[in-house]
Amino acid sequence: MEIYKLLPQTNCKKCGETCMGFAFKLLSKDLTLDKCTPLFEEEEYAEEKKELEELLKPITEAEMTETGLVIHEELCFGCGNCVVACPVNVAEDPTGCAIGKGASSDKVILKVENGKVKAANIKTCRRFGKYRILCNACITPCPTKAIEFPGG
Ligand code: SF4
Ligand code: SF4
Ligand code: SF4
Repeated sequence: MEIYKLLPQTNCKKCGETCMGFAFKLLSKDLTLDKCTPLFEEEEYAEEKKELEELLKPITEAEMTETGLVIHEELCFGCGNCVVACPVNVAEDPTGCAIGKGASSDKVILKVENGKVKAANIKTCRRFGKYRILCNACITPCPTKAIEFPGG
């Protein structure tokens, strides 16, 4: 309910759900906040978007913990090497990462925003979940060791 109250409550279904359905899917981690495009595109929801990001932070952090991915933002200078090296980014973004450009799809894991790398869609990381593999593709090209998987 707390999440639902901060959503636009227009039931526009741009996320593929009603607002209530979307709130449940955010909680169950089946969808991420960026799928509610009105929140990101319409200035009137800026405050709610900020509050939702705060509210959902523990969920995002829990997912990050499951992969073991740690981003040291203070070391990242936004070169984008990791963005074009991630195999999931490349597969999901044929017009951006796959040709060595910045991310142009909302399905990518790593993208640079305001000069710093950010992670999303973390469940698609090859290190995530039961069948995880120890992918290192985003770590090795980073000149400043801003990404790491301390657990190995
Ligand atoms: S896109 Fe946002 S406003 Fe539209 S139905 Fe989904 S949660 Fe509600
Ligand atoms: S570990 Fe592999 S799949 Fe996961 S973010 Fe890094 S490069 Fe992408
Ligand atoms: S490779 Fe390292 S410095 Fe470059 S964007 Fe990625 S995390 Fe930041």
